[in-house]
Amino acid sequence: MPEPGLVLTGDDVSMPDRCLMKVAQFFGVPLETVAMRDVEMWESVSPSDFGTTRLLCRADVLLGLLRDFEQSQERRDWWKTSAHSAFVYWDGEVNTLEKLVSILTGHKLTQISREQGPQNLFVTDELDDFCKTMAGLRVGSLSTHDNIVLDSSGAHEKRIDIISTDDGAVFMRFQYEGVPVFLSTSREIIDTDAELVSQNFDVREHFLCAVPLVLYIKWAFPETCWNAPEASACLVIDDPLLKPTHGFVDFQELLSLMKRHTFSTNIAFIPWNWRRSAPEVVRLFKENPGNYSVSVHGCDHTRAEFGSSSQQRLYWKSQQALERMSRHESITGIRHDPVMVFPQGIFSEAAMSALKRTDLIAAVNNDIISADPYPRAITVSDVWDIAVMGYPFPLFTRRYPWEGVENFAFDALLGKPTIAVIHHDYCSDHCVRLVNFIQRLNALKIAPTWRSLGEVVRRSCRQREVSPEVVEVEMYGTELRIENRSEQPKPFLIRRRECEPSAIREIRDGSGPIAWNSLNGHINLKIDLNPAETKMVSIRFHELAGNGCNGDTLPYRLKTMLRRYLCEVRDNYVTTARLRLSGSRRRVES
Ligand SMILES: [Zn+2]
Repeated sequence: MPEPGLVLTGDDVSMPDRCLMKVAQFFGVPLETVAMRDVEMWESVSPSDFGTTRLLCRADVLLGLLRDFEQSQERRDWWKTSAHSAFVYWDGEVNTLEKLVSILTGHKLTQISREQGPQNLFVTDELDDFCKTMAGLRVGSLSTHDNIVLDSSGAHEKRIDIISTDDGAVFMRFQYEGVPVFLSTSREIIDTDAELVSQNFDVREHFLCAVPLVLYIKWAFPETCWNAPEASACLVIDDPLLKPTHGFVDFQELLSLMKRHTFSTNIAFIPWNWRRSAPEVVRLFKENPGNYSVSVHGCDHTRAEFGSSSQQRLYWKSQQALERMSRHESITGIRHDPVMVFPQGIFSEAAMSALKRTDLIAAVNNDIISADPYPRAITVSDVWDIAVMGYPFPLFTRRYPWEGVENFAFDALLGKPTIAVIHHDYCSDHCVRLVNFIQRLNALKIAPTWRSLGEVVRRSCRQREVSPEVVEVEMYGTELRIENRSEQPKPFLIRRRECEPSAIREIRDGSGPIAWNSLNGHINLKIDLNPAETKMVSIRFHELAGNGCNGDTLPYRLKTMLRRYLCEVRDNYVTTARLRLSGSRRRVES
């Protein structure tokens, strides 16, 4: 790789140093570690051999290095010619920071202070190339404890404040002897091996220990780093029937808004409703496939329908759901996206094993931890990945708008697609707050491309050019649409995490079955693409053998019917009346 990276350590490799290497590893960037005392080792690396070096270290280590420059012209020359840039995190000593900043700014005094309590954070919009999707973001009321900030008035031509709080800068870029030095005042670096305790990663809780380093790695290692070829997006609304209105969703109104404000909506459709779509709404879907799509939302949408431990039963359920969606298609002509959205977000490990054996290509869910009594541990790196691959079936994450645009922006920085979810009641103000949210997403520095949910899944992957001739691709869903965006014919080496390769029946591209092999929990395959050529790779699994659960009892069917109708009454009359009433009461009171 042409971008060598070095973690320069003190006498021991510290915990943050280890975490830093894990984050780099996540992005496919290998870092060497060298202790400061073995300084000759890394100094002997000449730039002409490997390109210039990216240094990552603690503040006191960099301070030691810069002081060495005062003694040794040779070392100073090494810095000027062989260092590409440096990322520095704080060692916890205010003293070190003062001295370091003083050297970096040419002995200009900078006030350093501690701040407590909630703070607003701002990401600069002056460094788009560095900040990417995070550029220009404002994040409100972040709980920061014992934070260190540098007085903003200290910013001058040698210093740009990249992330600031109300009181000063917490991440900044200096220019020292022509080499950019990025200094973060966070003492901690996020541990990507840490187990997730909430149902999704929230960047607001880890902003300063995650964002500066991720921004640096993506900027400093553009060739080595995994990247998503596209930032795609889709809004998902759970539950509606395809009737002119469902609760506060008015399909005609929503379509006009999508056209005016550029976005797409997928309806997580309850297969039980397959006979009930209204012709005028069906027409809207068929005439506007770039705006409207449908996915599979459970089967009957009963309570915790996909949370049970019976794989056979869930296999039958998912097959029944897909049959109903096919019947819906034969009546209406609407093709469904083969993507499962779990009712109430509840799923089990058995559900994931069952779904894998069907024609579904992925699951999309808010929650990432299964409902099993002893759920599998999901780590930060699992959820940072394009999709969670720890289960037998790929799980793409989605979020509510109130989780903040900053979370969507960080997901996009990681290469994850933007999948937002709402329920009909979010449209109760004629979609004013929805449009506001969409506008904020579309205003991100890298605006997303809005697609159907199925296409969002198919186009989600990460890739990198290992040489000008070869592209490596990591695949997630069981279908991948891959495009050669270059001007040369190229082989694409595709790999995908797969714990059970023996369950694969075949892998095809557009022209027929293709060869593949499996190694160390991954399957590998290769396809060749001409310039601008696109192919779809799909993996099909063997059906699940044995079937003891074919059919529902009459009482279950009656109960399901009752539940479906009651839910509709709730959405169409009770919730709408309650919200309208509270809205009008608020208007009267105000
Ligand atoms: Zn639902």
